[in-house]
Amino acid sequence: MAQTADILIINARALTMDPAAPTATTIAVAGNRILAAGDFDPDGFRGPTTEIIDAGGKTVLPGLIDSHVHLFGGSGELDCLNLAEIEGEAAFTAAVRAESQRKPDDPLLYAVCANYNILGPGQSADRHALDRIMPDRPFAMMAADHHTVWANTAALELGGILHGGDTDPGAEIVMGADGLATGLLLETSAFSPVVRHTAHGGRDFLGYITGDDPQPPATPAERERDKQALREGLRHCARHGLTSLHNMDGNLYQMELLHELEQEGDLLCRVQIPCHLRNTHPLSKLDEALLMRERYTSAMLYSGRVKMFMDGVIDSYTALMVEPYPDRPDTHGEPVFTPEAFNEAAILADSLGLQISVHCCGDGAVRRTLDGYEAAINANGRRDSRHRIEHVETITDADIPRFAALGVVASMQPLHAPRGGLFPPMPPGVIFSDRQVRNAYPWQTLRESGATLAFSTDWPIVPVDPMMTFAAAMFPTRPDDRWQDQRQSLHDTVAAYTRDGAYTEFAEAEKGQIKAGMLADLVCLSENLEAADEATLRATRAVVTVCDGRVTHDGRL
Ligand SMILES: [Zn+2]
Repeated sequence: MAQTADILIINARALTMDPAAPTATTIAVAGNRILAAGDFDPDGFRGPTTEIIDAGGKTVLPGLIDSHVHLFGGSGELDCLNLAEIEGEAAFTAAVRAESQRKPDDPLLYAVCANYNILGPGQSADRHALDRIMPDRPFAMMAADHHTVWANTAALELGGILHGGDTDPGAEIVMGADGLATGLLLETSAFSPVVRHTAHGGRDFLGYITGDDPQPPATPAERERDKQALREGLRHCARHGLTSLHNMDGNLYQMELLHELEQEGDLLCRVQIPCHLRNTHPLSKLDEALLMRERYTSAMLYSGRVKMFMDGVIDSYTALMVEPYPDRPDTHGEPVFTPEAFNEAAILADSLGLQISVHCCGDGAVRRTLDGYEAAINANGRRDSRHRIEHVETITDADIPRFAALGVVASMQPLHAPRGGLFPPMPPGVIFSDRQVRNAYPWQTLRESGATLAFSTDWPIVPVDPMMTFAAAMFPTRPDDRWQDQRQSLHDTVAAYTRDGAYTEFAEAEKGQIKAGMLADLVCLSENLEAADEATLRATRAVVTVCDGRVTHDGRL
């Protein structure tokens, strides 16, 4: 007699990602582990308290792993005015004024996901334009890519930067001919004085902006407000079939809040939090990475990784390119780290056994980061380091084989590609060289080179819904003939969201496949993905999510 299952999923079309048994119709779960998966009679596992989940012949996948998110920021933004669908001055004005009425007391009226042409092509959203829309209270809006903020005069005054201020290299408080800030704030150190006045006091983005803890420390009431936002954010992720999140910003404060949520039973997804090492930090900041790794070791909350930035974004010419921008020959972007500083940090972090993940949009940033990883191998010897590069929006031919050669994971976001359908075909104003376009968003190019790919959203930059990313990866469009076909198969897309995401966090023996003995992380979907066209994919929902053997989302009602 087989062991009794706590959860029994029947009538499934499971894509297990287990090469030895790629499909299964029945999955038995006991405790937080998968007891059995295959084509067997479920009755052998049925007991009086077994919960039966009838998958209805639809797809069941290993629990989905989003390998690049900003959980706290995304959670905080769930309650903000979202401008993603707003275009043109009339619609924009109406949306901002309605939000102002909905939130009369916020010290800073704050909107998110603004696109760079929100007032119309070529119309600058400077402080004067924003003052016309919202003259009498501080208003600021964050770009979808989270690298630019536009602020009105009152918000610049609130942040104390109307007359300018100091920023880190690569950031800019853009100044006007009148000697005052224009309202255009490029990169985090330029806009952090303003966004620190949001509903969460900027604490939701502190792990991203500074990597340090709130100063002064959050009050008990503020901690509760922050925890409630995280609860909502985790619920939002579970509702989309996610069971693991690789967070890309971090500080001890965020880990403490998540640890408290774990103890309270509200940590609905596994979360890995990194230590954020900025170019302004001394390398002793890595002591905090060691502390985080040592202190948080549960299967639900863990660390062991360092996050760094090498550049900004292509849209604002802050991405580091090998060659100057064709339409701005004076610049090829600005590196956040000098080669010497980055190599020193990479060598030290690697020698401490830490995994490194570095934001690199431009091909120059990718090259410089690969150089640093190579320097770490040369200094410390080769080990199973699985260092990561985030984004890789374009790459030189010479650097393509280096991912596989150096064992570097390409962490990519198919929905960010112009062809993913979310951003316009090209960032406005920015012109790429033919070579940069040919190697843009090189998912399949890197896959065929032997690199491991992990897929993700970078939520809240795009919605955390994995099925939008599935559609972007599997049904890309080509703006013109220079673009290479980077289309992903269903199998490879699932792998990059499950098995290879687990590999990326050294957990491939524990999760990422539906297989006896693995952690019970599963998602039952509303459609059969094997037969799905693009529209069906986009409409696919998570019906039931199971994380650690527990139902974290049940949409069957
Ligand atoms: Zn990110």
